[in-house]
Amino acid sequence: MKQLKRLEIIIKGAVQGVGFRPFIYRLATELNLKGWVNNSASGVFIEVEGTPTILEQFLARIPQEKPPISQINSLESSWLDPVDYTSFKIRHSSSGEKTAIVLPDLSTCSDCLQEVFAPNNRRYLYPFTNCTNCGPRYTIIEELPYDRPHTTMKSFTMCESCQAEYENPLDRRFHAQPNACPLCGPRLQLWDQKGEILAQENDALNLSINALKEGKILALKGLGGFQLLVNGRNRESVQQLRQRKHRPHKPFALMYSSLEAIKQDCEINELEEQLLTSPQAPIVLLKRKNHLHLSPEITPNNPYLGVMLPSTPLHHLLLHNLDFPIVATSGNLAGEPICIDEKEALNRLKNIADLFLVHNRPILRPVDDSVVRVMAERDMIIRRARGYAPFPITLNTHSLTNILAVGGHLKNTIAILKNNQVFISQHIGDLSTAEALKSFNQVMESLKGLYDFEPEIIVCDAHPDYLSSQYAKGQNLPIITVQHHYAHVLSCLANNNLNAPVLGVAWDGTGYGQDQTIWGGEFLLVRDNNYERIAHFRPFKLPGGDKAVKDPRRIALSILSEVLGDTNQIKLPFLETIESKELNLVKQMLSRNLNTPIISSVGRLFDGVAAMIGMCQNITFEGQGAMALEYAIDELKTEKTYPYQIKGINYPLIIDWQLIIEGIIEDNLQKISKQEIAAKFHNTLVEIIIDIAQKSHKKNIILTGGCFQNKYLTERAILRLRQEKFAPFWHHTVPPNDGGIALGQIMAGILQKK
Ligand code: ZN
Ligand code: ZN
Ligand code: FE
Repeated sequence: MKQLKRLEIIIKGAVQGVGFRPFIYRLATELNLKGWVNNSASGVFIEVEGTPTILEQFLARIPQEKPPISQINSLESSWLDPVDYTSFKIRHSSSGEKTAIVLPDLSTCSDCLQEVFAPNNRRYLYPFTNCTNCGPRYTIIEELPYDRPHTTMKSFTMCESCQAEYENPLDRRFHAQPNACPLCGPRLQLWDQKGEILAQENDALNLSINALKEGKILALKGLGGFQLLVNGRNRESVQQLRQRKHRPHKPFALMYSSLEAIKQDCEINELEEQLLTSPQAPIVLLKRKNHLHLSPEITPNNPYLGVMLPSTPLHHLLLHNLDFPIVATSGNLAGEPICIDEKEALNRLKNIADLFLVHNRPILRPVDDSVVRVMAERDMIIRRARGYAPFPITLNTHSLTNILAVGGHLKNTIAILKNNQVFISQHIGDLSTAEALKSFNQVMESLKGLYDFEPEIIVCDAHPDYLSSQYAKGQNLPIITVQHHYAHVLSCLANNNLNAPVLGVAWDGTGYGQDQTIWGGEFLLVRDNNYERIAHFRPFKLPGGDKAVKDPRRIALSILSEVLGDTNQIKLPFLETIESKELNLVKQMLSRNLNTPIISSVGRLFDGVAAMIGMCQNITFEGQGAMALEYAIDELKTEKTYPYQIKGINYPLIIDWQLIIEGIIEDNLQKISKQEIAAKFHNTLVEIIIDIAQKSHKKNIILTGGCFQNKYLTERAILRLRQEKFAPFWHHTVPPNDGGIALGQIMAGILQKK
């Protein structure tokens, strides 16, 4: 008889809740190996006995044949003497250090979908069908290891059939923690605005479908929180939703029943198709086709459409019965975080929704729909939430200190560092409302709790007034404050696994500068653990601060008065849209420097230029001016630019926009199209990047900050930088906007500890 050996294997990574143990079980039994496998909080443990040749085979086949959605970060093995196991078993979970990876929630797999629509299946039309390849994870887990008693499914006792699936290693639902069926699992109810039950289960579903057909607004308890749904082809209903939600302009996303239906309304390439049908199933920004079959209120003046496919059986069941796409937007008032609890939803959404389709599977943490845009033939995540969070970003550096980063103010996310992995929270949102602050605290506690994480250092933005910075200061721990745009650059570096030195181009709306003015048009030379501001845009006044952000005509007035020396010289048509009282007020503010903070932001320059040429008189969301200007270009191809000047000999150089604005005034008077003005403005910004890149003598150029969500700007910058033999880097799995700040702060924390 051949000599037996025992192999001990420890696998770390995304290996829980993905069918990893049944895979190991099947592989071991196929090779006739004995031993056991179990889950611990730090990963999967295996002991197997057999002949060394077979054991080698077993080891080699693990990474080759692992379940598709799992990810192995490390696999360690050691040889031991045999202990004569007689069978192969899946053992109960053991505890240990919590380093296993919690998986994001995954969209319904094709096997489950087939069952939901098969009349003879016991899960026919069951909205909570799932298996180890799909279903809720992050939204239901209370603590590691990922086992049913640690999820919000703990109160549902499985029926005999479900239990049998759960215990059978050869079943797709072996240890599928949210496993359920119509007999034993969560159920639907339809409520009116007072919370009275109108219908249950399938009746609730059918009444909801009818309500949507009639143009009603439905609040749906989805996977990571409430969504507001309405018929996307019904103009009146969409208008009503905008009114009730206090969201006049910001684009709504649409959910379509199928890829084919999307293709009727939008242009779509292969990568976009892959993204839509991926387990993450995000909202993808697509170019919409010209014929308008949709309510124009969905995305006013916007050639793009945010679309997604159903990601849960409940969404599939709704859409399957509708012959129109539905608006699916977060269940909240503008600016507030998404609601997760039905009682709270009733309270917060009663003035928005007509009906509430709810269920009794608790949502543990709010997770919004993610948003992705294809940029230079790669996907760029704009909002990182469902399907992506809390999957970690693996760094090429590490720290033994536990670092917590509290992020910025807008589009807030937080992050924790464990060794070389950064766990970034889902998108939390703007920290300006009490609701958002509550959500910030909840996400903080739940992320810390999930990974048993106690911070030793906190990193926050340098802005003293950010609520996130104030939270950091209240924690009684050593604090590192990081300049906003430096954090943007470090975030992009980390997202590209790149090291300094680099030239960082950090353009956004607002960020607190080290000279106490507002920055946002920055060129930062980043070295090992510091940065130098080598160039920035010529600062201008922001009359009324936030008021100017909401009414960019004020920015236009400010810039034009500097260019022309006097506001009375301004002769552009947009002036006529400003009331004389308001005009005089702003003129006075400008001439007397009353409440006119100084800003060097490219985002605000975009707003000002948009307003100057008669676009975006009044905006209701951050970045609206820049978006309008980007979309104005449409398909126009031109190489034209405006002249500009770079002033100064010593750093920081000043990028003077005087000639750009003069060119725009001239073009406007000459009745050159907005399309061409917008393209020339973008092209000029790109040439400025090339110019400063050449002066910096750095090869690697980082494009970061909210302005680089702009496809035209980013793609042209990449193209031109490559033509000039630079290596451009931009964001991929972490957003270029302030959603990426927390990752940059973690990097700054690591660098400072070194
Ligand atoms: Zn499934
Ligand atoms: Zn059951
Ligand atoms: Fe920013």
